[in-house]
Amino acid sequence: RIVVNIADAASYDVRIGAELIEKLGGYLRDVNQSDTALVITDENVGPLYLGAAKASLVEAGYRALDITVPAGEGAKSVAVASEIWAAMADLKLGRDVLVVALGGGVVGDLAGFVAATYMRGVAFAQVPTTLLSMVDSSVGGKTGVNLDQGKNLVGCFKQPIQVCASTSALATLPEREWTCGCAEIAKSAVIDSDEFFFWLADSAEALARRDEGVVAEAIARSVVFKANVVAEDETESKGVRECLNYGHTLGHAIEALAGFGTFSHGEAVAEGMRFAMRLGAACVGTPTDVVLAQDELLDNLGLPALSWSAEPESVLDAMKGDKKVRGGRLRFVLPREVGLWEVVEIDDETVLEHLGAWARSKEV
Ligand code: NAD
Ligand code: ZN
Repeated sequence: RIVVNIADAASYDVRIGAELIEKLGGYLRDVNQSDTALVITDENVGPLYLGAAKASLVEAGYRALDITVPAGEGAKSVAVASEIWAAMADLKLGRDVLVVALGGGVVGDLAGFVAATYMRGVAFAQVPTTLLSMVDSSVGGKTGVNLDQGKNLVGCFKQPIQVCASTSALATLPEREWTCGCAEIAKSAVIDSDEFFFWLADSAEALARRDEGVVAEAIARSVVFKANVVAEDETESKGVRECLNYGHTLGHAIEALAGFGTFSHGEAVAEGMRFAMRLGAACVGTPTDVVLAQDELLDNLGLPALSWSAEPESVLDAMKGDKKVRGGRLRFVLPREVGLWEVVEIDDETVLEHLGAWARSKEV
């Protein structure tokens, strides 16, 4: 049980443990007195965990309703949000409804956005079921939907009343989704500290095997890391939160250039972390042993270097579509050491030179 403290919002608990969905109702009852809970889930997660979640809510005295949305990024849209608003109004749900997100980051971002906006905001709880949503998206209060023009362009901050991460739900998670979470855990460890990094390096194979104790500890460490970052910079106004973008500048460009879905978000971010380390070695003196230690960590987590590359110029353009661009110069989160990062503005020529070296390293 980890407490997240945010200056202007009520603090809330993140619970991590086995079989928590079965106890969900009681946990939420401790902090919420609504009559009605509306569970929002997706087509994959619903058949697996909705029954247990609703049974537990009913046992705690809630009237439990549910809405199932299609699985996948496409559900994070204004159209789907609008269907949920309409369904909530048809059900005559008032301001006292509790919205419960049961699913991965897509369901969490969508349901959080709906909860933040329906009747100017109703209570919201997160029950993340992917490793990525447990370690990353369910903590921090960012919610939103995508537009055709880009991802996460509409949204708001909405803190949940509780996050309930049941590690038992991870048993059914496909391998590709698993490694997505592992990439974010590795990102957190590199940014956080030697202590987290070396623990993860020692535990990487056990994490890849989904060893229960190691999984719970990796989630807890990542949540503490993210909660601390978010507590310092709730609305991303102070720059502290920028560190969460480590590996994501090239990562997002790879996802866009290769075509969304060609590589998972985790595969793309892991590649971005490898690139950022090499940029760090050239620009801020990151030691070679740190660069290689991260390579080995990612290998052991099941995130090998990609054999894919693209023309440096097109990668540069794709990176410039990234929101961290200020005045045309690219900004990268670079680790000087494990646990010591900085944001560095790098001119196009230098970036192109390193992208060239990156592309050449992929040639056999
Ligand atoms: P996702 O929600 O699409 O889930 C991945 C897939 O796994 C889906 O097909 C889903 O149906 C399935 N699934 C979920 N739980 C399962 C389980 N226990 N067993 C079997 N299948 C299961 O993807 P995600 O990776 O969890 O989240 C990605 C989204 O999170 C993106 O939209 C991203 O923008 C967002 N995100 C938000 C934040 C934030 O701060 N709010 C941070 C990072 C990412
Ligand atoms: Zn990410």
